[in-house]
Amino acid sequence: KPLNLKDPSLLETRAYVNGCWVENDTTFAVTNPANGEVVAHVADLDVADTRAAIDAAYDAKAGWAEWTGKERAAVLRKWFDLMVENVDDLATILTAEMGKPWPEARGEILYGASFIEWFAEEAKRVYGDVIPGHQRDKRIVVLKQPVGVVGSITPWNFPNAMIARKVAPALAVGCTFVARPAELTPLSALAMAVLAERAGIPAGAFNVIPSTDAAGVGQELCANEKVAKITFTGSTRVGKILMRQCSDTIKKMSLELGGNAPFIVFDDADLDAAVEGAMIAKFRNNGQTCVCANRIYVQAGVYDAFAAKLKERVQALNVGDGFAEGVTTGPMINEAAVKKVEAHIADALEKGAEVIEGGARSDLGGTFFQPTVLTGVTPDMVVSREETFGPLAPLIRFEDEDDVVRLANDSEFGLAGYFYSRDIGRIWRVGERLETGMVGVNTGLISTEVAPFGGIKQSGLGREGSKYGCDDFLEIKYMCLGGI
Ligand code: ADP
Repeated sequence: KPLNLKDPSLLETRAYVNGCWVENDTTFAVTNPANGEVVAHVADLDVADTRAAIDAAYDAKAGWAEWTGKERAAVLRKWFDLMVENVDDLATILTAEMGKPWPEARGEILYGASFIEWFAEEAKRVYGDVIPGHQRDKRIVVLKQPVGVVGSITPWNFPNAMIARKVAPALAVGCTFVARPAELTPLSALAMAVLAERAGIPAGAFNVIPSTDAAGVGQELCANEKVAKITFTGSTRVGKILMRQCSDTIKKMSLELGGNAPFIVFDDADLDAAVEGAMIAKFRNNGQTCVCANRIYVQAGVYDAFAAKLKERVQALNVGDGFAEGVTTGPMINEAAVKKVEAHIADALEKGAEVIEGGARSDLGGTFFQPTVLTGVTPDMVVSREETFGPLAPLIRFEDEDDVVRLANDSEFGLAGYFYSRDIGRIWRVGERLETGMVGVNTGLISTEVAPFGGIKQSGLGREGSKYGCDDFLEIKYMCLGGI
């Protein structure tokens, strides 16, 4: 049945290349993970189409870079306004293709839009530098220039915001952009393009190429000499493939990869606040975010109390179709995602953990899964080492600060980390020692456009958002003026 949209033209199924809406004989079905129903059939582009989109972005880049920062700011601001005006429809499209509860989808649209607003503002402030010369007749000037064409590959878990975080700074500084959205969620990306066109973003500056050929399109974006930079959010496994493929042309890269976030509750924590933070850090988006708490370490003195309180809060979650009233937790994205959660639970139980809440598929069937809490989890279990990406909270008991920091850092990942404590000395010590790009202290929610989002170790390269967010899309050029 058709989606209930105020503006049905936002449900676009054609690709957007060089300012044109491109049909294709070959299409692929986008399905609603809550019920398996087909939402739409979308144009399925191939490698030759990808090349055409890259050519369009390449041809558009000089013109777009010539716009003043203030001119680019104006159209980006208009794009932001249109996203906010259409938030309900954009959320409906998002929930239909991805499954998250509609109010949460609305939150994602506003979060994504906030990056467009932020970078619209930053577009006017791409300042260079003047450096005192090293000789009497010399002056040194530093220019910041757009890197050029940016190729983007994004995942399904934030179909709008992952693209917004990348395209906003890229366009703000004068780059042009080719986006290949995840094949599970292309509709949100195409809806963004509808609004980008309405906002006046010129032809070729923003292109969206839906495709089921992830590897082929990815390879083309990485190998094509006209692409200056790849920005990717997704698994560390695919990030490594892309990095290899980019080596031949020495492309710049931003990589926002997997995480395995530790969430630590010390004895001196405000326990209710810690439970609240764990609910957000673990169960937001049904556990399907790269900054989700993956390992929850609780100090021995508060372990049982924390487990009991968390169990109670998890029991109150309401699993169901994201369009239904009062639902807090949608379906998982697909069967493979459910199987991974099941495997992590089975392995933990085999090694001595205990399910105190949930633990199995929901009666609703499909890919619905009961939010789960495990106690008695130990570092040797798979769930302590691998990103679960699902609604599973494993509780690991620890005794002292040094031990837990060592455990928390014993991972090849380093995206987000969280801890709860009220001791100012401990807050500084642990905050400094956690090997992650982001640390939430007494909060389970750290994502905002005003702060730099990104990871260290194998969680990635570069930062998205904040005053640092433009840097990843800029080249520094230095001019030495002689004979003065
Ligand atoms: P996730 O588990 O979040 O889906 P992936 O890394 O598998 O993480 O996928 C992230 C994005 O990368 C998706 O859009 C996916 O289609 C795409 N992708 C998967 N494999 C490749 C590949 N070999 N080359 C380029 N992109 C890929």
